[in-house]
Amino acid sequence: MAAEKQPFEAEVGRVLDLVINSLYQHRDIFLRELISNASDACDRLRYQSISDDTLLSSDPDLKIMLTPDSDAGTLTIDDNGVGMSRDELVDNLGTIARSGTARFAEALSGDDKADVNLIGQFGVGFYSVFMVADQVDVLSSKAGENIAHRWSSDGKTGFSIEKIMDDAPRGTRIVLKLRDHAKEFLDEYRLRHIVRSYSDHIAIPILFQGEAKPAEPKEGEDKTDELVVPEPQQINEASALWTRPKSDITDEQYKEFYHHVGQAFDDPWSRLHVQAEGLVSYQALLFVPSVQPMDLFDPKREHQVKLYVKRVFITDGLEGLMPRYLRFVKGVIDTEDLQLNVSRETLQHSAVLAKIKKDLVRRVLDDIARRANADGDDNDYDTFWEQFGQVIKEGIYEDHEQREKLLDLARFRSTHDDGWVSLADYVARMKEGQDAIYTISGDNLTALKSSPQLEAARAKGVEVLLLADNIDDFWLPQTDTYQEKPFKSLTRGDVDLSKIESDTEDKEDQPTETVEGEDLDKLIAALKAKLGDKVADVRASARLTDSAVCLVANEHGMDMRLERFLKQHQQLGELSKRVLEINPKHELIRGMAATDPGNEDLGELAELLFDQALIVEGEPLPDPGAFSRRMSAFLSKGLAA
Ligand code: ADP
Repeated sequence: MAAEKQPFEAEVGRVLDLVINSLYQHRDIFLRELISNASDACDRLRYQSISDDTLLSSDPDLKIMLTPDSDAGTLTIDDNGVGMSRDELVDNLGTIARSGTARFAEALSGDDKADVNLIGQFGVGFYSVFMVADQVDVLSSKAGENIAHRWSSDGKTGFSIEKIMDDAPRGTRIVLKLRDHAKEFLDEYRLRHIVRSYSDHIAIPILFQGEAKPAEPKEGEDKTDELVVPEPQQINEASALWTRPKSDITDEQYKEFYHHVGQAFDDPWSRLHVQAEGLVSYQALLFVPSVQPMDLFDPKREHQVKLYVKRVFITDGLEGLMPRYLRFVKGVIDTEDLQLNVSRETLQHSAVLAKIKKDLVRRVLDDIARRANADGDDNDYDTFWEQFGQVIKEGIYEDHEQREKLLDLARFRSTHDDGWVSLADYVARMKEGQDAIYTISGDNLTALKSSPQLEAARAKGVEVLLLADNIDDFWLPQTDTYQEKPFKSLTRGDVDLSKIESDTEDKEDQPTETVEGEDLDKLIAALKAKLGDKVADVRASARLTDSAVCLVANEHGMDMRLERFLKQHQQLGELSKRVLEINPKHELIRGMAATDPGNEDLGELAELLFDQALIVEGEPLPDPGAFSRRMSAFLSKGLAA
């Protein structure tokens, strides 16, 4: 049958260009990508053979082999893993399986080191072969089918695919026709060096098949034409890294393992290698990345830890093996205490795994806490928090057992300074008479810092946490206290700061004119009458010092920002009515109190103040035209006066 030609998906062509151009200086990574794929293919076969041992039995020793051929100018990588069917060859190698090129292209920074990290995250690993080869043949035969197909491409426009053999042994052979400038990858020592530096942690043996050499001349001959092919030599350690004694593993080896298992190429921020013996025996090798993976906020929120049983890879992302709020943790868990042939459902309810999970969650959080509390210069916790804080905060409402620990780990922006503050710092700085942790939430920090609702707290020197993450709206309503101090939002209900000792007592002592008693009641009644059902209530404010008015939610209502967020996401029809608070010390309010309730201007001013309060909250005005007319009318009066 003739080979069938197919163009690459449009995206593949772009990825190829990007990969070749941006990663050229790191072209030796093609080998670790191919070895990593080959090792995954062997892992998958071993797992499938648990339920069907015929798959493995014909060729039971899993291995990867590198064979250079300098006459042909090719490097061949063989594995006897699961292999690929025709459709799998087309789908896996002709399309960008997992993420769009556009995102890859966007993420490219032009900084080579950072860009190398992106390969793999985007599933473009295989395409890196075209940096070193101008012709690539992938011959593959899927375990159980044993029909071989050849996928060929020059990496430019498309590929061809054809059936080449029935009754083929299982596995994949990749033949790279090396470009002229890439002939170094025929050299035994170059290849050994790359394998040792990038792929030593691979648990499958990697063999090197040297080229045929002239035989030693026999006695009496000075020369012979006879060639001998040397025996293949194993060039990696080939034992699962997590089973080796910790003292035998170098930082480099840990790092390369992380790159392989996490499909990431940054340096891990931390690692945790556990070799636990006891009620449940298991080994775990987990890493916290230093940069956010691209899919961290994917709605599936799947964790990234692989499960092995007795060194055999079982599955990725098993539900319940790691909590969702630790989904940035990457690595492996391996246990002796499970049967190999248990179903996924059984695994999900396994008491052994529940125990391992509990143990590991504690260890991971303790490890993060240790970094959070590190002394002085060694403390790089802020960088961790900036990458993963939003995800950790999900745990505050999802994991009640760990809530206090997670609250300890949480960092916030506050009115105290421009850095990150912990709740423990906040509590330690609380003022005499202060009995709550004050918060204010909104969409951006700059706007939050100038919120009118903050004024009285600021005047008193009371610290306020500025919550600008959407996720804050979820954990906060469900979290009553930290170190027994309740959280209190400054945009909701009554706020009474009068018992708190002020930093600026002198200023407070100065008599300020204020509207009180009957005058205040009359003004409030007039405003209520004028604004009608636009507001839930009108009352005098204890939280304002400089602004005339602000809006707040009812004590038992939802926080204002949560409502807005839900409305934006069509989870809520209408926003509930706000309470309008007025500042009795403000000149304008005093002026209004002195105006005759029958005066038309009073009504117009009430409308203007209400609209102004909406603007400060970032909420749309119900009638911007009316607002603008009123505003102009008052401005002209000001000019005329
Ligand atoms: P990634 O490995 O990140 O998924 P690649 O482009 O490297 O992306 O590979 C694409 C897919 O092709 C792999 O996910 C795998 O399904 C398949 N594949 C690649 N190499 C092999 C191999 N040697 N044996 C079997 N399948 C393979």
